Amino acid sequence: MQRNLYEAEHDAFRASVRSFVAKHITPFHAEWEKAGIVDRGLWLEAGKQGLLGTDVPEQYGGGGVTDFRYNCVIGEELTRAGASGVGFTLHNDVVAPYLLNLATEEQKDRWLPPFVSGEMITAIAMSEPGAGSDLQGLRAVARRDGSDWVLSGSKTFITNGINADLVLTVARTDPEAGARGFSLLAVERGMPGFERGRNLDKIGMKAQDTAELFVDEVRVPAANLVGTEGGGFVHLMNALPQERLSIAVVAVAAARYVLDLTIEYCKQRKAFGKAIGSFQHNRFVLAELETELCIAETYLDRAVLEHNAGRFDVKDAAMAKWWTTELQKRVVDACVQLHGGYGYMLEYPVAKAYLDSRVQTIYGGTTEIMKEIIGRSLGV
Ligand SMILES: Cc1cc2nc3c(=O)[nH]c(=O)nc-3n(C[C@H](O)[C@H](O)[C@H](O)COP(=O)(O)OP(=O)(O)OC[C@H]3O[C@@H](n4cnc5c(N)ncnc54)[C@H](O)[C@@H]3O)c2cc1C
Repeated sequence: MQRNLYEAEHDAFRASVRSFVAKHITPFHAEWEKAGIVDRGLWLEAGKQGLLGTDVPEQYGGGGVTDFRYNCVIGEELTRAGASGVGFTLHNDVVAPYLLNLATEEQKDRWLPPFVSGEMITAIAMSEPGAGSDLQGLRAVARRDGSDWVLSGSKTFITNGINADLVLTVARTDPEAGARGFSLLAVERGMPGFERGRNLDKIGMKAQDTAELFVDEVRVPAANLVGTEGGGFVHLMNALPQERLSIAVVAVAAARYVLDLTIEYCKQRKAFGKAIGSFQHNRFVLAELETELCIAETYLDRAVLEHNAGRFDVKDAAMAKWWTTELQKRVVDACVQLHGGYGYMLEYPVAKAYLDSRVQTIYGGTTEIMKEIIGRSLGV
């Protein structure tokens, strides 16, 4: 079935993203994977090209269009080029909504122009060494002192953690108030007491700087509180559907990319005098994966339109996230098998896709937590 999610303007945007990726990312990606971080210059180029903040109002230099399909195009094009771990989706899909929906006018004036130009790279720090799924177990704490919050704690697994200039940090601002005692504080590069830890060595997504962050008695001005004091969890709950949809978009795009190249491989590679795709077992595997992926694309396209219409809720996002990422894992694993020994060689894109895909069922909320959310919504 033909996908009909996109319109002519998205296709034009896709062409510009594709040429941007070919020129500014593909030639350097292997180098960044070795370094464990992308060059900051890439962000400035992306800003010039209009790839950061397509939904940020024009008065701040953004694209001024509230349409998640533009975000999808960016995620899909990076994925089909194997350009994993570049960090744009975290900035655009995950952090932008906090700034757009919660920031004060003064904060927008300060942060949105450099957000869009690529001069300010962003991150969000929820996870800690002792708590990931169980956010109520977070220990970072901030106490009010005059016009500042004084923040201490450790965060880990933070995407863009080394490059980030602004880190939305979840901390307990009222230890007595339970789930209503968490707030979002914007910690900025250079604040005394804010230190980066290790850039973590991962099995995949090697170009992404995923880091530990430490805050020790950091004085965060009250003017850097994002959203309402004590409203941190509500703000997270409101923003997580888009984060999970973004991960689902990448899951489906990655599965499509790997399946398409595997179908080609199965036509070329010969064993016992025949193309390996012509053996019934392999033909059936490919037929099943193609069917499932076609269903996933149809479902995802609908999900994106529901999100654009403001009807994509926490349960919808949990379903989309776990199902598409588990499908991605199965598709990629089967495609490695179909490549035989070559599937295990990093010079083959399928091998890299295998390593890059593994985290998808973990970050943004694990498959198990997604099922908990769905189960609870069913009243069981
Ligand atoms: C590459 C990468 C990038 C990341 N980027 C960010 C980021 O930018 N910002 C950020 O804040 N975090 C980030 N994370 C952290 C990520 O969101 C967490 O790793 C994830 O939420 C899981 O938390 P955890 O690692 O503490 O696992 P745990 O919570 O310790 O879970 C361990 C296992 O127990 C299972 N489990 C836990 N609770 C339950 C339950 N109630 N029922 C059933 N099973 C359960 C989990 O599903 C999992 O299988 C990133 C992680 C990675 C690997």
